[in-house]
Amino acid sequence: MKPPVQRRLRRWSGGWLRGADWQPSPNQNARPVGERIRLAVIHSISLPPGEYGGPAIEALFHNRLVPTAHPYYAGLQGLRVSAHFVIRRDGRLQQFVAVDRRAWHAGVSSWEGREGCNDFSVGIELEGLEGQTFELVQYRELNRLLRDLLHAWPLDAVAGHEHVAPGRKRDPGPGFDAALLTAAAALRKPPAWQGPHAVSSGENSKH
Ligand SMILES: [Zn+2]
Repeated sequence: MKPPVQRRLRRWSGGWLRGADWQPSPNQNARPVGERIRLAVIHSISLPPGEYGGPAIEALFHNRLVPTAHPYYAGLQGLRVSAHFVIRRDGRLQQFVAVDRRAWHAGVSSWEGREGCNDFSVGIELEGLEGQTFELVQYRELNRLLRDLLHAWPLDAVAGHEHVAPGRKRDPGPGFDAALLTAAAALRKPPAWQGPHAVSSGENSKH
């Protein structure tokens, strides 16, 4: 009998992962025709920053964030953003956009000479604060999610938002432990934390 080393793969239903908490966001549109989904972009988010478990991330992705509810929210007014997935501090997986649709997470960005990473990437937000550490259950869910994604989509790389928007974005930041990204070993390319993108911030930024 094989040892139970990995939890089994989950099924996909039209770009939605079964078992995830589905919360469809209006902030999405079609990917370019024929575009290959090749990159997973890891982010960190918490609203308000450093506070975990509240409903504000969902509210932001559903354009329902009340700008007066917290001083930080005023600066987010009118923002139309989303990510495909959010992994909460307790490992709970939420999905906001179908993987075959384009989520709005990377902004002005580039990867291997291609601009506009939203076109060809999957956005995964870890609930956390840029620069701070993440929970082991979040890495466990992230690895499981990457395996589920790889099974259905031709991903070949994983990078942080800081790698695709250097100088502009810093998440998930130095608190993210890429050594715990065990599922990345199945990707064709090394994760950006190890590859040529892993130069110190500043050297790699485009001015
Ligand atoms: Zn980000």
